[in-house]
Parts: sequence; C-alpha cells; structure tokens
Amino acid sequence: MSAAVQQIARRRTFAIISHPDAGKTTLTEKLLWFGGAIQVAGEIRARKAARHATSDWMELEKQRGISVTSSVMQFPYRDCVINLLDTPGHEDFSEDTYRTLTAVDSAVMVIDSVNGVEAQTIKLLNVCRLRDTPIVTFINKLDREGREPIELLDEIESVLGIQCAPMTWPIGMGKRFRGVYHLYTDTIQFFDPQAEKGTSEIIQGLDNPRLDEVIGEQADELRMDIELVRGASHTFNREAYLEGKQCPVFFGSAVNNFGVQSLLDAVVELSPAPLARPAKTRMVEPIEPKFSGFVFKIQANMDPKHRDRIAFIRVCAGRFERGGKLKQVSTGKSLAINNAITFMAQDRNTTDEAWAGDIIGIPNHGTIHLGDTFTEGEDLQFTGIPSFAPEHFRRAQIKNPLKMKQLQKGLEQLAQEGATQLFRPTTTNELILGAVGTLQFDVVAHRLEFEYGVDVMFESCSYATARWLRGSDADLRALADKSPANMALDGNGDYVYLAPNRVNLQMAQERFPNIKFLETREIY
Ligand code: GDP
Repeated sequence: MSAAVQQIARRRTFAIISHPDAGKTTLTEKLLWFGGAIQVAGEIRARKAARHATSDWMELEKQRGISVTSSVMQFPYRDCVINLLDTPGHEDFSEDTYRTLTAVDSAVMVIDSVNGVEAQTIKLLNVCRLRDTPIVTFINKLDREGREPIELLDEIESVLGIQCAPMTWPIGMGKRFRGVYHLYTDTIQFFDPQAEKGTSEIIQGLDNPRLDEVIGEQADELRMDIELVRGASHTFNREAYLEGKQCPVFFGSAVNNFGVQSLLDAVVELSPAPLARPAKTRMVEPIEPKFSGFVFKIQANMDPKHRDRIAFIRVCAGRFERGGKLKQVSTGKSLAINNAITFMAQDRNTTDEAWAGDIIGIPNHGTIHLGDTFTEGEDLQFTGIPSFAPEHFRRAQIKNPLKMKQLQKGLEQLAQEGATQLFRPTTTNELILGAVGTLQFDVVAHRLEFEYGVDVMFESCSYATARWLRGSDADLRALADKSPANMALDGNGDYVYLAPNRVNLQMAQERFPNIKFLETREIY
C-alpha cells in the first residue's frame, strides 16, 4: 500500500448528534480521554459551562478563540487518526450544525435511555439521511432507571426509520446496572463506577460460572434476555450500516466511562474511511493524488473589525501541504496557503500536512464563501452542501436610513457566509432574515454593528417557514399572481415561497402540483 492510501485508510471523520442533555459533551470528553488527547476529563465541560453561563453574544465572542480550535478534535487512536467534528447543540444550534454533517463520513447518535428519541435527534437524523450517512447509536445513562432496552430499539426503528442491530446488551439498569454483554465477542464487561475506566472485569462466555458469582440471579435473567434478543433483533450487517439503513447499537454510561471504549473501537473497526464525494462533473476519490476540498463552515474569528474569519475545508482528496498553492474554483484565483490551521491535538510536528478526511482552517477576510471548492487547478465543484428551510424569521430595520446600503451589503455578505439567510419579498422593499436557530439573529446583529457599523433592529414577522420553488416560468408566474405577498427572492436570486403557516403552505402546494416546494436547497 502506498503511503497515501495508508494515510487515508486510517482516517475516521465523524460527528456526534443528539438532543441537548443526552450526553454529547460528556461523551466527547470521554472519547478524547480514551484517545489520549486530553489528560484530565473536565476540560470540555469547563468550556461548555463558560458558554452556558451567559447568553450574551459578546461573551460568546470571547470564547471564539477556543471554539475555533475545538471545532475539530483530531487524535490518534489505535492505528487510526480520528477527526471528531463538533456540532453545537444547544441555543447556538444553527445551520452550521447541519452543514458540519456534510463534512463527515459517519456519525454517532447519542440517545438518553430515559427520554428515548427526542425532537432534535429526529431533525439531525433527517439531515444525515440526505447523504445516507452511516450511524452508530450509543444509548447513554444506563446507570439511571430508564426505559426497557427493547422498547428503545423499537422506538428508534419506528420513529427514525432505521434498523437497529444491538452489538452489546445491558445487564439491568439504574441501581441494578451491572454491565453489558457483547453479542459478537461473547464477552461480559462488568460495570463498576469506582473503577478507573468504569469496568472492573471482563470475562468470556455467557455460561461462565464467574457470571453467576458476580451478578447472582441477574445472570439467568441475562441468559434469557440474550436468547430473546438474538431471536428478535437484527444481526449486524456492515453493508446495511454503510448504506445508512441499519445502526449498530451500544449501551453505556458516558459519565462513568462505561461503554465508551467499545464505541471508539466500533468507530475504528466499523465506520468508513473517507468516501468518494460527488462533484458536478464527476465523483472524486479520496486517493486521487491531487488535493481537492470544499468549505462547509465559516466562522468569524477573534478580530471582527478586520472581518477576520476562518473557512473550514473538508479535504476530499489528496494531501494538503503548508505553503502549497490552491485554486479557489469560484473565482479562479490561486491562493498561497501559509497560515492554514490543522488540528492534530498532540504532535505539533505533523500539523504541516493534512490528508483526505481531515479538516483544515484557512484564515481570510471574507473572500472565501460557503460551498467553495479548492483544487490544485481542476475546475471542480463539490455538490451537496445544503441550505435548510429556516424556522425563524425577522424583518431587518435600521435606525439611520442613510445606512441602508451598508445594511444590504452586510446582510448579503453574511448570507454568503451562511450566518443567516436573506429573503427579499417581490412586492415590497423589506429585508427578511431567516434562520434555523434564533441565536443566529444575535450573531448577525452583533456582526452588523461591529463589522459594518450598522445598528439594526429585528422585528418579528409572520412567516413560519419557507420553501424553494422549482417549476416552469408559467407556473411560477401563476403562483406569484395568486399569492404575491408570499413570493420572495433569496440571496442567490432563487424564488422562495414564504408561508405564514403550514396550512397556507399545504394549500399552495395542492393548488400548484407542478411546482416543487423544496425544504432543502443545495448551495451548489
Ligand atoms: P449534552 O447537552 O448532550 O452535551 O449533554 P451533557 O454531556 O452536558 O450531559 C447532560 C447531563 O447528563 C449532565 O449533567 C451529565 O453529567 C449527565 N450525564 C451524561 N452522561 C451520563 C450518564 O451516563 N449517566 C448519568 N446519570 N448522567 C449522565
């Protein structure tokens, strides 16, 4: 195997998705700890606590230096290089989260054993489904009195529409939680919250008398459970997993370190190495010798006065080397990349290169846009970077009408960056902002003030959702005649239907069956 093939085959790039409070931060921290990337558990938590202590955007701003470097956590584990991409989950939940999922090859879904499948889990899984991203499920908090495991699997299957293949099975829960049985290695791992890694002992075989010694009457319960589970559940099928149709399921307790190592091992053993990516003209294979990648996220950086920002590029093929020149395909310009950020946590010497699967950050002053492709010269354009129908809307107003031009320019640029979406109704001069998470509005207001010198006010407006329209000119004209107040253009000049409520949207869809009302739109 060539060095390049080897380097790429050892990459695992994934994100964790979950509903708030299911345990994503805890699990992230434990994964880093098991991976040797942090010495003391608690570092991530401290950061999150700081983030939560205030909802003031100015404070968030101060945290940014940290959040840039923590957006991607890279560490070696076994023979692999793991890239764990952070997806903000709480009030800073936004389109960034969704787009980050386009930059991974797989995801870990955390489910709280008490609460089961929750609203945000459903949304995030639907985003993963756009690309059939393979999902590993971790059912967390088995140390609490949760729901019956079989019921949880049923719920995942029926609500999320994905088959479950249990890899481990819990022995009791809450006060009676004693560990897990691994269905494929026929081993039992005993839970001990006092033990350093959450595990006191591992034994081989369900019939092992040691099992009865350690957990008494629960041993026979387990044997019966396993017989049932083997009969009633799906067996793991790697193909189905890679196609996003089946998820292997692990049980554990992240806060107690339990089950975390099995999960990390599963990422190494089961999850895919970097996959081929579609571009407009062809598929791009990760082992191609020439570099290519796309921008999935842009983050304003420490010094907003200089419009200083970092473009996060997912490397799709080849190797990145510091000092090399890359072509920004959208402008045709060639950029010398000397100051790229790479994310290897431990070994600073290796940070001068990155391979397919890795992420690099490129500082710039607003010249790099969301969805941009970079290559060594070829005119490639990666596709599949989505915009999502916003769920929150605001009307932008300014106190000083002389600043109208700056406001428009600022909003256009922030929309290009993906910080917000911008809609212009066809019959009025309003500027309507759309967002997936409301914190996006605070960010935009703050940045308009500091970067563009515009004091903006946001008024609530009566839209509930938006759909991108695809149809013949005649059909679109007919729709515009019928509902002029609902028609708008987005930042790219695409027609959009702004609906005050679901009923209105449904009626428009029924009346114009030849028009497609799209909930997601690809930027490219
Ligand atoms: P996030 O919002 O998904 O990032 O969740 P956190 O990691 O912040 O966890 C939410 C809460 O659940 C915190 O109080 C954690 O200490 C707690 N938690 C996480 N894992 C476990 C677990 O295995 N058992 C129990 N009992 N609590 C947990």
